[in-house]
Amino acid sequence: GSTIGIVGGGQLGRMLAMAAAQLGYKCHIYAPDKDPPAAEVAALFTRGVYNDEQALARFGAEVDVATYEFENIAAGPLSALADHAPLYPPRAALEIAQDRLSEKDFVTRLGGRPAPYAAVSSRDELEAALGRIGAPAILKTRRFGYDGKGQARIMNAAETDEAWADVRGAPSVLEGFIRFDAEFSILLCRAPSGEVLLWDAPENVHSHGILDHSSVPADPALRPAIAEAQALARKVADALDYVGMLTLEFFATADGAVFNEMAPRVHNSGHWSIEGALTSQFENHIRAICGLPLGATDLIVPEVTMQNLIGDDVERWRDILSDPAAHLHLYGKGEARPGRKMGHVTRLIGRGERL
Ligand code: ATP
Ligand code: MG
Ligand code: MG
Repeated sequence: GSTIGIVGGGQLGRMLAMAAAQLGYKCHIYAPDKDPPAAEVAALFTRGVYNDEQALARFGAEVDVATYEFENIAAGPLSALADHAPLYPPRAALEIAQDRLSEKDFVTRLGGRPAPYAAVSSRDELEAALGRIGAPAILKTRRFGYDGKGQARIMNAAETDEAWADVRGAPSVLEGFIRFDAEFSILLCRAPSGEVLLWDAPENVHSHGILDHSSVPADPALRPAIAEAQALARKVADALDYVGMLTLEFFATADGAVFNEMAPRVHNSGHWSIEGALTSQFENHIRAICGLPLGATDLIVPEVTMQNLIGDDVERWRDILSDPAAHLHLYGKGEARPGRKMGHVTRLIGRGERL
């Protein structure tokens, strides 16, 4: 059988490896941690740091195709890997998505609409940008942010210094604060042939910058914004000659879909698809990067919900299992630190009852 290389060892890699195993593939995980969640379910594990070009080149030579579940791999190591194995999604997608400024510029060129934004690389530039965009606004580091980390809200000009200190002077973007009706994401999978499949768009609720839960289908009032966002997501995927899963996050507003950010990978807001769709995001990602036909993405019940188990939430796992309809996923992470994603629970709802 063929071996799939996955760079990154978190829960996304774990669920990718489980989907790959079902299709008869071996997975080889590359990650810096000692005992990462993905390695526990994969055939092979190499421990290595993400900026070790030689190690990534060797890793590439040992696998038949490579993918990633982690976005912050530098250009050099990434190309060392891509020299030795076909890498999907394409490098260009990762390079654009790992920098909030290039991501917003790219999506804008394709006709998408982000929040008003400005690049900021000094305290003076921040002040000028705030003058133009106005408060409230959010300052976000261009790179390395996730789960709301690397962000500072600026409610008024008096908070400028504190925000600049919060991002430690890192190259950043200032974004206007969007008063949204709801948030949703577009989950898309593109095959090498150019075939594109979409799932029902989940409506997402965040708490303290972290995804709390997703529901599918989204509120019917969001349909026009979702249709607009789907069209944009297709343009993004086609422009990058994309292969695999692509996720775009949006705000639904009175004037339609406002682009927030994209992830060139499987996404937390798509976890419901494991039980809730005919084919999950993880399986279709594996199928796409292996050149197999994609599976249908239809919802299998009228409604699905996915609740994240963050930090201490995971202690409720026994109670969750006392609901016979709950599909519990635990990621096998050791310590339940605050803000850490420890697992999730999916519920399928049909004709007014939980299945
Ligand atoms: P992820 O883990 O999704 O990658 P992240 O750290 O990249 O998160 P964002 O998606 O940029 O963070 O922001 C997290 C959440 O903060 C958003 O889902 C939204 O709820 C809120 N938020 C971010 N930017 C804005 C904005 N410009 N206006 C209003 N709310 C925002
Ligand atoms: Mg993000
Ligand atoms: Mg986000």
